[in-house]
Amino acid sequence: MWFGVAPASCATINSPRVTKNFITETNENPDTPFDVSLRPPVFAEFSGQAKVRERLELMVEAAKGRGDALDHILLCGPPGLGKTTLAYILAAAMGVNVKSTSGPMIEKAGDLAGLLTTLERGDLLFIDEIHRLQPAIEEYLYPAMEDYKLDILIDQGPNARSVRLNLPRFTLVGATTRAGMISAPLRSRFGMTTRLDYYTAEELQTIVRRSAGLLGVNLSDDAALEIGARSRGTPRIANNLLRWVRDFAQVRAGGSATRDVADRALSMLDIDADGLDDMDKRILEAMIHKFDGGPVGLNSLAVAVGEESGTLEEVNEPYLIMQGYIKRTPQGRVVMPKAYAKFGIKPRTREGELFEG
Ligand code: ADP
Repeated sequence: MWFGVAPASCATINSPRVTKNFITETNENPDTPFDVSLRPPVFAEFSGQAKVRERLELMVEAAKGRGDALDHILLCGPPGLGKTTLAYILAAAMGVNVKSTSGPMIEKAGDLAGLLTTLERGDLLFIDEIHRLQPAIEEYLYPAMEDYKLDILIDQGPNARSVRLNLPRFTLVGATTRAGMISAPLRSRFGMTTRLDYYTAEELQTIVRRSAGLLGVNLSDDAALEIGARSRGTPRIANNLLRWVRDFAQVRAGGSATRDVADRALSMLDIDADGLDDMDKRILEAMIHKFDGGPVGLNSLAVAVGEESGTLEEVNEPYLIMQGYIKRTPQGRVVMPKAYAKFGIKPRTREGELFEG
């Protein structure tokens, strides 16, 4: 029997229950071993994002109360803020399995079909970078998400027939760093869309203290705050900086990480007191010196600093905007007075006038 090429409305699979390597893992954590041990496994250990947490906890309680699967959830926000972590926490709270994959890994409709048909009732399917799903594949998701049905095409020519598979009730948790790139039809099929924001220095201090405890690092409270304040509002960065401070303290400070030691360690990485790294400073300086404060387009800026435009847009820019160093205008990115002040340069408007104040 031939399992055929999918027409627009049908997914094609090689075998109804194949599990392929586009499933990156099941119930195991996806990050490096360092991250794995630091990933909070339950809501109670997940610091910050109070509103998001409250909403998700309520959804879990309601679904469990009804004995039902969780509704589909879309988590948006910059990288490293805890989207994957929340997906795993949700599964643990519901007592279900997780299958984890990412948008670019699903290349064919058959890949998606293979994934969906291995789910059991209540299981959680986590799709990271869901904005990178191909449009044709997205279409197969719609009936799967809405009606728990999947149309597959079997055979070709005169024998071709479409078979409708019933899927168990499952939960799709999508994560995206680019909420604007999710199509309206896909977005509307999520029962809950929620956005994660950058963490405060104090929230990151709590996370760093917890991680230091797990790693057995001798870290003072003000050192944890110092790391938190210089981590661009991002737990993943905070954990990475903690690891660096630990190494620095071990080699240069007899193993104990005080605030002063943390400061020296972070300065050695060129992370300044405002938490800006080398690339942030290059961006601001390029905007000021090469583009006269802007407006400048993303691609020109990317070329000027030697970084990919996607990284600038997803990683550096949101933080610089949030901190008030730059802003986006319809004409392009513009430097704000705070950036001039940082480098001790007199701010100018485009016309060459001084900013007020
Ligand atoms: P994302 O999926 O948004 O890129 P992750 O969920 O992979 O981010 O989080 C990156 C790392 O940061 C995790 O391994 C975890 O250790 C840590 N982390 C993220 N959010 C929190 C949090 N709220 N509390 C404690 N640790 C966190």
